[in-house]
Amino acid sequence: MNDRTKEKQQNGLATVVRHPLGVWSGGRELAWVAAYLALVSLPLVLLLLGEMPPAVGFWWDFSMGLGFAGLAVIGMQFALTARFPRLTSPFGIDVIYVFHRYLAWVGMGLVAAHFSILWLFHHEALGALNPLEARWELTSGRVSLTMFALAVVTSQWRKALKLEYGLWRYAHVAFATLGFGAAVAHILGVGNYTSTPTKAALWLVVTLSWLCLILWVRLFKPWRQMQTPYRVQEVRPEAAGAITLVLEPDGHEGMPTFKAGQFAWLTIGANPFLLREHPFSIASAPEALPRLCFGIKALGDFTSRLRDIAPGETAYLDGPYGVFSVDSFPHAAGYAFIVGGIGVTPAISMLRSLAARGDRRPLWLFYGNNSLEDVIYGEELDDLASRLDLRVIHVVKEPPEGWEGESGFLDGDILARHLVDDKSGLVFFLCGPPPMTKAAREALLRLGVRADSIRAEIFELV
Ligand SMILES: Cc1cc2nc3c(=O)[nH]c(=O)nc-3n(C[C@H](O)[C@H](O)[C@H](O)COP(=O)(O)OP(=O)(O)OC[C@H]3O[C@@H](n4cnc5c(N)ncnc54)[C@H](O)[C@@H]3O)c2cc1C
Repeated sequence: MNDRTKEKQQNGLATVVRHPLGVWSGGRELAWVAAYLALVSLPLVLLLLGEMPPAVGFWWDFSMGLGFAGLAVIGMQFALTARFPRLTSPFGIDVIYVFHRYLAWVGMGLVAAHFSILWLFHHEALGALNPLEARWELTSGRVSLTMFALAVVTSQWRKALKLEYGLWRYAHVAFATLGFGAAVAHILGVGNYTSTPTKAALWLVVTLSWLCLILWVRLFKPWRQMQTPYRVQEVRPEAAGAITLVLEPDGHEGMPTFKAGQFAWLTIGANPFLLREHPFSIASAPEALPRLCFGIKALGDFTSRLRDIAPGETAYLDGPYGVFSVDSFPHAAGYAFIVGGIGVTPAISMLRSLAARGDRRPLWLFYGNNSLEDVIYGEELDDLASRLDLRVIHVVKEPPEGWEGESGFLDGDILARHLVDDKSGLVFFLCGPPPMTKAAREALLRLGVRADSIRAEIFELV
């Protein structure tokens, strides 16, 4: 398991208890897991109700159960990535993507086990492998297994396979949708458990719900974004090759509200149906709505093109999403932000918002950069420090001559030097390169901070 995955897991699991500084959250997580298990079991329960086909033997029946369970898990994968704000809110969308990734292995494993058991114990039922000779519904089952395997393998090893993110995303949607369609066709074609009219009808309802979900995500949501476009108002250069992108709603009221620190998916230069969207933290405060600002660092194709975007260009947004916000911990005694490089964007949104609200709680911003020239929002941070009870601690890897501030890598000694001794009422927000957030989390735990007082945002979803 890599650092990012561990970080996301800890981030999600940390909330499954009552947090003394925030709102009750454990109940919502448990309800979420219970609802997930109920929905995954639903197709199996429906098929077990009423008239059953005659039992063929343990391995046969077991294999059928595995097949249906696998398809139910895979069907729910579409719901997990449909970005229903309420559905993702207990954990945050990044943690939901981690579930999605693990559950893909579970779903594919179940479907593969269904096939393997038949192969071992009922080989004759599989017939010919050659699609030209085989029964179409059995070929359909094998196509679905192949599609699911391709979806999982290309996601797990996308970077090793050197698959560009945008291309991978198209392929992923195609593999998943084709695989799912082929699996449903396989079940209906074989007809073992769906032959009575009631069961066929129930199965149809379940299948149509899955289909509606796919249509909602791929057609309805992009269409809704097309109805609420944004206009680029300004593209402002910032330090270290970053830009501030300013958007204003075009012909509508704009985003009604968001929590400082949340993010949105941004599409520019394409329409939302083309899946060319990228996630960015909203750097402005909710108090500045309807205008929205994003702080973006040039890292690849899309982010490098943004500096050449002309004012007036159309943009589309899907959001807000995420739980990385001071507003998740309204009763905290203070907040400490530990960020590196462009990871400052959700922190600046929260600081801007706290300043707009006149918040007087103690705040710390530990801000790691390679050099002082890389510091983004430097002057504004000085201004925020004068309006808030905020200490800005720059940690510079390659400091200039005569630098008297902190230097090197952000570590426990630096944190201990600037934070108060009693950290029990504080909440910590970490955002930056994974090695930095990992080191900061470990240092905080060593300093006695509770795991559920540490939240992290990772700028990479899979
Ligand atoms: C919750 C969140 C908030 C973020 N906030 C910011 C921010 O405020 N400022 C900022 O500069 N960056 C932010 N990022 C990172 C930003 O999304 C990526 O840098 C950007 O998508 C890279 O695209 P690219 O084509 O320029 O680079 P590429 O070289 O194509 O991609 C670099 C890496 O970014 C990821 N990525 C690429 N395209 C996508 C996509 N469409 N969807 C999801 N991930 C993708 C992939 O892991 C890829 O390996 C955030 C990411 C997340 C997940």
